[in-house]
Amino acid sequence: MADEEDTEPGAVHRISGCLRLLQSNPFDGKLKPGLLNFRGRHKRNMGLFWPKKWARADGGVTHEIALNSEVLLRPLMETFGTLVHEMCHQWQEDFGKPPRGGYHDRQWGSKWSLSG
Ligand SMILES: [Zn+2]
Repeated sequence: MADEEDTEPGAVHRISGCLRLLQSNPFDGKLKPGLLNFRGRHKRNMGLFWPKKWARADGGVTHEIALNSEVLLRPLMETFGTLVHEMCHQWQEDFGKPPRGGYHDRQWGSKWSLSG
């Protein structure tokens, strides 16, 4: 019998499950649901936070968290860390003061250490 957990759709499911879990804790359910996407282009990074990437029909915008498709082959715990990292960027975008250029400033760092 094939182990379904090892198939790619299984990994996608597990990762989006993680994302939902993380949205309620440590982010207190404050983060709006963003779009979870997978790309293989940004080879250096395992994840990328893309603020206001998608225009919605209601006139609003939706952020995207893009994960390198390689994460599908990695242990889930490593991907967990990547998700929290990108969600800290999202938190800062919506509730903090995002630094220009998307680097990691002190505010980002304090959120990161709190959620670790
Ligand atoms: Zn970052």
